[in-house]
Amino acid sequence: MTHHYTGLINRYRDRLPVSANTPVVSLNEGNTPLIELVNLPKKIKKDVRILAKFEGLNPTGSFKDRGMTMAVTKAIEAGARAIICASTGNTSAAAAAYAARAGIACFVLIPEGKIALGKLSQAMMHGSVVIQIRGNFDDGMRLVQEVARTLPLNIVNSINPYRLQGQKTIAFEIVEALGECPDYHVLPVGNAGNISAHWIGYSEAVGLKTESCPNLEVAAPYKTGGLATKRPIMVGYQASGAAPFLRGAMVDQPETVATAIRIGHPVSWKLAWAAKNESGGWFNECSDEEILRAQKLLADTEGIFCEPASAISIAGLLKDLERSVIGEGSMIVCTLTGHGLKDPDTAIAQSSKPFLVDATRTAIEAVIGENMPK
Ligand SMILES: *Cc1c(COP(=O)(O)O)cnc(C)c1O
Repeated sequence: MTHHYTGLINRYRDRLPVSANTPVVSLNEGNTPLIELVNLPKKIKKDVRILAKFEGLNPTGSFKDRGMTMAVTKAIEAGARAIICASTGNTSAAAAAYAARAGIACFVLIPEGKIALGKLSQAMMHGSVVIQIRGNFDDGMRLVQEVARTLPLNIVNSINPYRLQGQKTIAFEIVEALGECPDYHVLPVGNAGNISAHWIGYSEAVGLKTESCPNLEVAAPYKTGGLATKRPIMVGYQASGAAPFLRGAMVDQPETVATAIRIGHPVSWKLAWAAKNESGGWFNECSDEEILRAQKLLADTEGIFCEPASAISIAGLLKDLERSVIGEGSMIVCTLTGHGLKDPDTAIAQSSKPFLVDATRTAIEAVIGENMPK
């Protein structure tokens, strides 16, 4: 028995739609740290436990790797030679990396100018064909479905059910780490695949059925040995400028600094409503200002650097704690979906500028003197 972790398909093989002959394409994704926030609860004077599942530490820097290992593995099993996706950035980064690993072609459609620099560099570096469109993510998603109708392309967006199957494993890891489900699970909602996948995972973990899982029969209900008995309340946060779940209708011109959730026509619309309703949860919204403030706060107080879309789970949580819909004594897990290094421009724009001084000891000492804690 060795302890070399080789990715989530090998780890959770009995709960995923794979067979012994499935050729697994993996970069050892998953197994991300669940980090307890030790300073933030004190700072906001709330008696709660907050644990961050830092998905930014996946191989390409976001949770998209969990879904992509499954989607590309199943594409290869079916004999595909090319995959395609529309993306706000992280899906294309993951698709490009896993396609490179599998030795197949990858086409990505991204909205012109609205993709964070780190993500674009990943898609380019891994050798995918990057197609910028004069349109937004929703236009890209529609076009991907149109071209895949006639061309031999395997779609790896989350309309591909294998994506959600891979992504559900986050809930297994959390239940194993805690020995139970948290009281609340909070996360960003864009295309809404992730909240649906979390709910499928938690439901399987406790052996309960959910409308969100179209193919529950593929996975044996996860026997936790009595670890978990109840599922968490699911809370989804959207940026105010891209909040179809808050408006109760699709949004045609989504706008937010959190480009990963700049989506107005979420594909997993029904599944996400089922997750919210079955769990007794809710959706809430945050402004771009609140999102950026939370990103900085988390980086400053906990040493965790997530991207803006991920920070909405902290921004929203602070709001829901403030208005006491999440009460004292609660245990909350929040998914930090992607790494802050993905979007260096946004990080630099909101941080204080470096000092520029002469290369002398006096100049350095002057800056230290001004900035030393009193
Ligand atoms: C994809 C993504 C989201 C949104 O997830 P959905 O499944 O589309 O709701 C949030 N944050 C980051 C960093 C992402 O890459």
